[in-house]
Amino acid sequence: MIAMAMSCHPQLLLADEPTTALDVTIQAQILDLISELKKKNQMTVVLITHDLGIISQEAQKIAVMYAGKIVESTTAGQIFAKPLHPYTKGLIASIPASCADSDKERQKYLQTIPGSVPSLYNLEPGCRFYERCSYADNHCAQEEPLLDEIERGHFVACWKSSDIQKEGKLN
Ligand code: SF4
Repeated sequence: MIAMAMSCHPQLLLADEPTTALDVTIQAQILDLISELKKKNQMTVVLITHDLGIISQEAQKIAVMYAGKIVESTTAGQIFAKPLHPYTKGLIASIPASCADSDKERQKYLQTIPGSVPSLYNLEPGCRFYERCSYADNHCAQEEPLLDEIERGHFVACWKSSDIQKEGKLN
């Protein structure tokens, strides 16, 4: 599939879950190949994946999607260091802790995001993450937040992103 996609010398390659169901060795080979082709052909790659490990290794910019909408978008460094959307925070918190992690509680329990994704056929008004969000209030249930530039190059669709940003500065 990659050979077929590359045969037309594209400037943009959309790689949708290119390493799903592959073992880690083949996965690393595929990612190296895509990276090499990207440099050689001066091509942009849009990598679509659920694997945060791959994202942290490969991406320069990240757009996090929830229920069909982008909820946060910025550089890879910002997303992992300072996530401002509750869904992104939940995703990052759910990465299993390593033995080297200083937080012993994280080593004991795997963090999860409660609830499940809403049906796209029957969406309620307001924020799509409302039912699962620990920051939610009435405003969230009534009006859907739009993507807003909270800080330079950092876009977030959440009514509480400024509070979350302040909370991060206090910690
Ligand atoms: S808008 Fe409200 S419900 Fe939606 S993610 Fe932000 S705090 Fe949570």
